[in-house]
Amino acid sequence: MDRNKNKPTVMVGNGSMNYPAFHARSIRQRDAYWREQAQRIDWHRPFHTVCDTRNPPFAEWFVGGQLNLCHNAVDRHVPHRPDQPALIFVSTETCTEQTLSYGQLFVEVQRMAAVLRAQGVGRGDRVLIYMPMIPEAVIAMLATVRLGAIHSVVFGGFAAHSLATRIEDATPKVIVSADAGSRGGKVIPYKPLLDEALHISKHKVDKVVLVHRGLSPAGLVEGRDIDYKQARSEVMDQVVPCVWVEATHPSYTLYTSGTTGKPKGVQRDTGGYAVALAASMDQLFCGQPGETFFCTSDIGWVVGHSYIVYGPLLAGMSTIIYEGLPIRPDAAIWWQLVEKHKVSVMFSAPTAVRVLKKQDPDCLKRHDLSSLKHLFLAGEPLDEPTAKWIGDAIGKPIIDNYWQTETGWPILSVPRGIDPSLTTRLGSPGFPMPGYDVRLLDDQTGEELTEPHQKGVLTLQYPLPPGCLQTVWRDDTRFVKTYWSSFANRPVYNTFDWGLRDADGHHFILGRTDDVINVAGHRLGTREIEEAVSAHAAVAEVAVVGVADELKGQVARAFVVVRDASRVADDAGRKALEAEIMQTVDQQIGAVGRPSRVYFVNALPKTRSGKLLRRAIQAVCEGRATGDLTTIEDPTAIQQLQDAVLR
Ligand code: ATP
Ligand code: MG
Repeated sequence: MDRNKNKPTVMVGNGSMNYPAFHARSIRQRDAYWREQAQRIDWHRPFHTVCDTRNPPFAEWFVGGQLNLCHNAVDRHVPHRPDQPALIFVSTETCTEQTLSYGQLFVEVQRMAAVLRAQGVGRGDRVLIYMPMIPEAVIAMLATVRLGAIHSVVFGGFAAHSLATRIEDATPKVIVSADAGSRGGKVIPYKPLLDEALHISKHKVDKVVLVHRGLSPAGLVEGRDIDYKQARSEVMDQVVPCVWVEATHPSYTLYTSGTTGKPKGVQRDTGGYAVALAASMDQLFCGQPGETFFCTSDIGWVVGHSYIVYGPLLAGMSTIIYEGLPIRPDAAIWWQLVEKHKVSVMFSAPTAVRVLKKQDPDCLKRHDLSSLKHLFLAGEPLDEPTAKWIGDAIGKPIIDNYWQTETGWPILSVPRGIDPSLTTRLGSPGFPMPGYDVRLLDDQTGEELTEPHQKGVLTLQYPLPPGCLQTVWRDDTRFVKTYWSSFANRPVYNTFDWGLRDADGHHFILGRTDDVINVAGHRLGTREIEEAVSAHAAVAEVAVVGVADELKGQVARAFVVVRDASRVADDAGRKALEAEIMQTVDQQIGAVGRPSRVYFVNALPKTRSGKLLRRAIQAVCEGRATGDLTTIEDPTAIQQLQDAVLR
């Protein structure tokens, strides 16, 4: 197979450039740079303007151009790699494996598109996808953009109320769903949740297309629900051409994780997203056509959109869709898949690695990982002990990358596809990716901090590069107010994260700007204290929050999950370990950072995407109501906190 098919005709950063010069050019000669990158994509009609900046803070990329995301992800590969696997589906929940080649995916996407089209779905209509991690979920996403419609994927298993708010916001014409998902061997029926959500929702949906997996009984509502298997059998040979859309046409909306409050509906374009993802596949992930990409996220999150679905397919790679836990049947499962499918790029999250960390590291060593080049991790701060542990366990470079649902692709990382001499530094996600003009600003004055080791708010200069959010769905005002109005003297995009740059240009993320605590006049990031606590060998996971205190203003409290629960089975054990942990913090950052209490719990409250819900922990400590918890993974975690605090 020709690995160089679909590579751009000009060399755009492939393995031999100098990073600083390459990055500087992407900013200073912005349009020339992105014009080159745009060659990675098939355009139905060429664009006339690279970036329209007439209406800041809004920006329009590749104006005048027409394309189709599905064409670029699927159709254009079919002549070159018809038999190469496109989707490799593995479910350790249902013990199923299924592979779809590019040729087969091309056919299946048209069948799904034909079914949606028959329900009246066309350009600009929304299709809400509420699905487990099965091939039909990805096929539905591709079919939607094929028709010029806009998808809104809602993480499968979200409760009825959360789903209903998203239905009301997206106002979809059609919903694609399934009878059930499965997690840890337990079937989670989706259909009753969907029925309830549709009952609550003020927006009425015309049609539901239901994929019946045979996991759970799911009655169809007359006149509204359509059985996908039946509908598909009626359109087996239908040809559904791609609907060409403007580069600025929305491809999807997606909600942020809701870690800091009510989730925001991010609106993504088509052309900018395609170009930026294609560039990142080459420059950062070093993924080549014909190779296999394994991203352990879920299609309900941005990482899944970009690096389970669109990124790997745009690059002509095979992508693994994995339904299951990382430790079932045992902690070797992911590495077994790496060996079996010769995965060359893997992408996961620190939270998943911390789950593995509680297991025997030898489990990870049982398999031949020689195909794997790098393991990428994103989503949360990657603390040094975790990075080191997984790096040692699998013997591969670990590459952290920092970004947001809003940006759609990494802001900071180590783009070795551009410059293989770039080094990683433990605890640092790295350098600005091409196109991102990253500045650290003083949170009070808005002045730019240019000296090394100055801690400031991480901001991005206007315009945001291609692929980043166009606006908040149906709420331009919220877009401007939320992201662009923090510094009166500077119209910059605020990430709401603290950052720092060392003398060699490595960036560090020091937590969210609202996660700072003030102990007797000392401003400390909860992240710094968490790093110090996790330096103790008994600690598997930790959350630190600031809690109001009459004397000191605020004090830090730590909630710890230990590796070996027997150490904290009784009061004496808890007291002893608490003292040891406090001592560790004293050694690492000094007594100012020492938590006033260390509590031991079995689980920390997290969003379903695995992010710590610090604000909920803080509320529990301060005896307040916990606020919007619709995105919480395990509601019993809150009760555990309450018990620990009262114990
Ligand atoms: P919401 O915006 O609704 O509060 P959220 O910010 O958690 O939720 P996401 O877009 O999923 O929603 O997460 C982006 C945030 O995750 C970043 O702003 C940052 O705080 C954190 N993050 C992501 N990757 C990294 C990383 N590699 N290192 C440190 N922090 C990271
Ligand atoms: Mg956020």
